[in-house]
Amino acid sequence: MDEKTPVTALKGVGEKRAAALAKSGLLTLGDLCAFYPRSYENRQNVMSLARAVGLENAVSFILTVGTAPTLARIRKNMSILKFRAFDETGTIDVVFFNAPFLKTVFAPGMQFRFYGKLTISKTKRVQLVSPKFEEYADGAILPDIVPIYRVPDGFSQKSIALTVKTALSLALPSVTDPFSEEFLKRYGLPSKKEALRKIHAPKDMEEVEKALRRTVFEELYFFALGLSLFRSNERAMTLDAFPATDLAPFLQALPFTLTNAQMRAVSDFSRDMCRERNERIAPMTRILVGDVGSGKTVVAAAAVYLTLKNGRQAAMMVPTEILARQHYEELAPLFEKFGFKTALLIGSMTKRQKESVYRALEANDIDFLIGTHALLNENVRIPRLSLTITDEQHRFGVMQRAALKQKSETSHLLVMSATPIPRTLALTMYGDLDLSLIDEMPPNRQRVDTFTVDTTYRERLYAFIRRLTDDGGQVYIVCPCIEEDEEGESELLSAVAYAKELEEQVFPDLRIAFLHGKMKSDEREKIMRAFSCHELDILVSTTVIEVGVNVPNACLMIIENAERFGLSQLHQLRGRVGRGSRKSYCVLVSDTQGESARARLETIRTTYDGYKIAEADLEQRGPGDFFASMSDGEFRQSGGFALKSAHLCNDRTLMENAFAAARETLAADRTLSSPEHKTLLEEVKCLFDFRRDTLS
Ligand code: ADP
Ligand code: MG
Repeated sequence: MDEKTPVTALKGVGEKRAAALAKSGLLTLGDLCAFYPRSYENRQNVMSLARAVGLENAVSFILTVGTAPTLARIRKNMSILKFRAFDETGTIDVVFFNAPFLKTVFAPGMQFRFYGKLTISKTKRVQLVSPKFEEYADGAILPDIVPIYRVPDGFSQKSIALTVKTALSLALPSVTDPFSEEFLKRYGLPSKKEALRKIHAPKDMEEVEKALRRTVFEELYFFALGLSLFRSNERAMTLDAFPATDLAPFLQALPFTLTNAQMRAVSDFSRDMCRERNERIAPMTRILVGDVGSGKTVVAAAAVYLTLKNGRQAAMMVPTEILARQHYEELAPLFEKFGFKTALLIGSMTKRQKESVYRALEANDIDFLIGTHALLNENVRIPRLSLTITDEQHRFGVMQRAALKQKSETSHLLVMSATPIPRTLALTMYGDLDLSLIDEMPPNRQRVDTFTVDTTYRERLYAFIRRLTDDGGQVYIVCPCIEEDEEGESELLSAVAYAKELEEQVFPDLRIAFLHGKMKSDEREKIMRAFSCHELDILVSTTVIEVGVNVPNACLMIIENAERFGLSQLHQLRGRVGRGSRKSYCVLVSDTQGESARARLETIRTTYDGYKIAEADLEQRGPGDFFASMSDGEFRQSGGFALKSAHLCNDRTLMENAFAAARETLAADRTLSSPEHKTLLEEVKCLFDFRRDTLS
């Protein structure tokens, strides 16, 4: 058995589990070895109950079960399991939700190591809710550092950990290292084998750190190599330049004047795509970066206008249906004025509707096509395609960009991104693209007044919501993301309970909906659409509200447990309001006493410039968060380059070293065609391939 052996070779992995693993991109033992923990829990720190009361963070307890567990149904689909447990300093309640099967696990007299945070119940009892637990038989040696994995469907945290462990023991002996010993020494990195072993079963956090440095380095190095190779392929192609094209009619058709920054980006496109004389040119490969609300859509539309004016077609791909609709509704009437036809293509359309779009495309009846992944369908043929645009590019893989471009021989490429990333990072992450930066907001843009409050303000907050909704405004309430493990279960429950309380007790007369990440995407879209049509007053959401969604009537953004979000994320969320004429507000709710968390919230309260915020985020938390947005589930499933560990990188120097090393390798051999780079090239090809592409 080796890295290439399929997961079904493992005992206990049948068809069903294999399918669940495949959904997470795990097809082979090698994939499982590279399924890095999401985080680690340090259970080394054992405390007595008496000392742990009031502590902010989770710790371990060695407790004896005092009473047999009792199981009660508190609602349809919800049960609660409870028992008493004690150590020499006190007794507490241990509580699990929706886990009736645990009833037989705990019996009086048994000892367990629990890991969790003590809380106080409504009836003032000290409790441990949904703790992690391991039986602590006499003399048992429990690992101090416990890796926590993302949990695929049909697995539990324990069973996925065991699956990874088994895969590792079988495949590790045959793992080869793409780096030479000399290279490893030069950059002070451990071997691949050692790194994999320590990532999954570390003795202490120092081992984890060292091992992670290696995987993060490797990943970013290959990422940089791949991007560069991809681009040099593209550069080799050419297409006919458009003649110089007058943009004045387009600009005059807009209801406003473009800002200087927008104009600069528009001239970048003209320069990329148009020439005075008839000649062949390299296609435009450009990224348009601008803060939320900086007006990227209309700038992109200028590139579309250039293209359509010259008798060619354009396509725009966005990550969600709601965004596709929004762009369609905004842009179709604009191009209609010039006699150009725009069409929408999204997954939820009926087969007949889709087929009529396919036919219209082939018959040259459609000039501009806007849609989701549905654009990648093999039936979509766009014979005169000369411009492809992808919006919010971090959601799409490099390869998807390529797939869309393949719809024609060669076309210009424009990528839009609303993630204001620091310049140093932009240069490396988007190193394959030319950059147009919109660093100026349209005039008269209102500032979203931002407040930080703790939960004692709840009543006043409700009154504020009431005032704004009475006045016809709409409100977003965002709770932290649901984590996919047992702990997440209770987090989801608390968000559900919160939404229910608002609905039934606080605002029974208002229209409230609840949106969470585990919903099917069409269900999510339906709710978002209802909110944007003002069929809802309040939207409670555990998932980050779709990037780019535009509901101008929304005027209040409340973010619960704000300390749990990254700065850039908070800024993005705040950007969902203040988009219309209503005076808008953002309220960050947090009880955190942590000094750095308070400082971060203060940064958001006082800073409105997305780039300054992004710089502060990079400074405070390292580059991991930026990579995290690239490695989310959707990205991985959509055939992109899967970054598996870079989000754990909190070391800016390490990142810069990896990119510098890649540049050095390429400086010596730009196409990696020399024999000594054979394995590198294979690795790059494998990482960027379509193997994981699950598009339909
Ligand atoms: P984003 O960069 O976040 O994608 P949008 O393109 O959605 O921003 O633009 C946000 C809003 O600003 C839209 O309603 C758009 O019509 C408007 N807008 C864009 N450019 C200007 C401008 N120069 N002056 C005034 N309003 C503008
Ligand atoms: Mg946008």
